[in-house]
Amino acid sequence: MKVVIAGAGIGGLTLALSLHEAGIDCELYEAAPEIAPLGAGVNLLPHSIKVLSSLGLLHALESVAVETTEAAFFNRHGQFVHRERAGRFAGYDHPQLSIHRADIQLTLLDAVRERIGETAVHLGHRATGFTDDGDAAVLHVTGPGGDQIDVRADALVGADGVHSVVRRQLWPDEGDPRYSGVTMWRGTVEWDPYLTGASMIRVGWLTSGKMVIYPVRPVQENGKQLINWVAEVERPRPQRREWNRAGALEDFIDVFEDWTFDWLDVAGMLHATEGVLEYPMVDQDPLERWSFGRVTLLGDAAHPMIPRGSNGAGQAILDGPALARHLSSGLPVAEALAAYDDERRPATSRVVLTNRTNPPDTILKEVYERTGDQPFDNIDDVITTEEMTAITSRYKQVAAYAKEQLSGS
Ligand SMILES: Cc1cc2nc3c(=O)[nH]c(=O)nc-3n(C[C@H](O)[C@H](O)[C@H](O)COP(=O)(O)OP(=O)(O)OC[C@H]3O[C@@H](n4cnc5c(N)ncnc54)[C@H](O)[C@@H]3O)c2cc1C
Repeated sequence: MKVVIAGAGIGGLTLALSLHEAGIDCELYEAAPEIAPLGAGVNLLPHSIKVLSSLGLLHALESVAVETTEAAFFNRHGQFVHRERAGRFAGYDHPQLSIHRADIQLTLLDAVRERIGETAVHLGHRATGFTDDGDAAVLHVTGPGGDQIDVRADALVGADGVHSVVRRQLWPDEGDPRYSGVTMWRGTVEWDPYLTGASMIRVGWLTSGKMVIYPVRPVQENGKQLINWVAEVERPRPQRREWNRAGALEDFIDVFEDWTFDWLDVAGMLHATEGVLEYPMVDQDPLERWSFGRVTLLGDAAHPMIPRGSNGAGQAILDGPALARHLSSGLPVAEALAAYDDERRPATSRVVLTNRTNPPDTILKEVYERTGDQPFDNIDDVITTEEMTAITSRYKQVAAYAKEQLSGS
């Protein structure tokens, strides 16, 4: 059996490694001419690290990432609200890793080239559409010189991200993405370690400005660390979603100018950042079906979600081994793809919908509303630890990284 994959992002590459483990041949066609260090940070929760670990990548990832020790919440005055241990520090068998997106993509790419072959990933090859003649799926590709190539395979997987051409061909009448009313600006900057040096923090609430901050590379010899920050602010109209759209500090810095806490100078950190990126917090309604004959979808192409709750990359990573397992089950290809669809679509749809209404940072919404966004004297008078733990536990259940759902944990 041979599988052709459109897109060599985090989802497509993890799928390739999973197929290889299952003894299935595959090739990837990636539009980008090179895998450049694009994007900013991503957080990988224990459920996705479990997958990457089973693919033998834990050591390589740990050497470039930060093992997150805790997730902590603060109000916009810098007052401590809540803290939960993360990953192995919370008793999971697997760590939570904060990592630069480029570092995980390159780690996966190296492993694909080493295990499957140097020519497994065709860079500079843009998928333009497909045909499925019943006997084979054919991916139509434009090569680097404009040459048109048809790639025949037993199955085709659209892992080509939020602008997926495979999804568009399967669902041509799908409307525009749904804007949540929030735009995010993000960047990375070398800065002094804060708190534990491995803390993921969420600060403030969307209405008056919210930040998510975490270090993504180990501390360097000069004592500095690459810190990833995401500023989330309510804005009436979104820009087009484009992961690499440049943003401007002037468009949002006013919200954070007085965020100089004794444990972190947030405003100073923002001013010191070169190369700010802007992205609208959009998603799409879950699809009724991903798999049609010999063609299916995976990752952001299948379940684009609001990038909140650290699940965009995580759910794409979980798709890979599930699809490989069904394809190696002995079922005919179309039935195997339908079984994968039955397993992963309901699970990821729940995450998409929960990210709209009830992500873990709902804790901060509660604090914002109950205090009128004012400083508090004692957090216990505002919200109980039990209430806060209940919010994060609910999210972990939906995203399937509650401890009881992670077998072996
Ligand atoms: C450049 C970039 C920067 C990002 N930065 C961040 C970030 O800072 N933080 C964050 O949380 N998430 C970021 N993301 C999104 C994050 O990587 C995904 O949400 C998640 O990893 C799911 O992975 P995926 O493989 O499904 O999608 P992606 O990681 O988006 O990968 C899709 C791949 O398909 C390729 N592709 C697209 N169209 C075609 C085509 N027609 N033919 C062939 N290949 C195609 C893309 O170049 C890309 O390599 C970024 C994505 C990209 C592409």
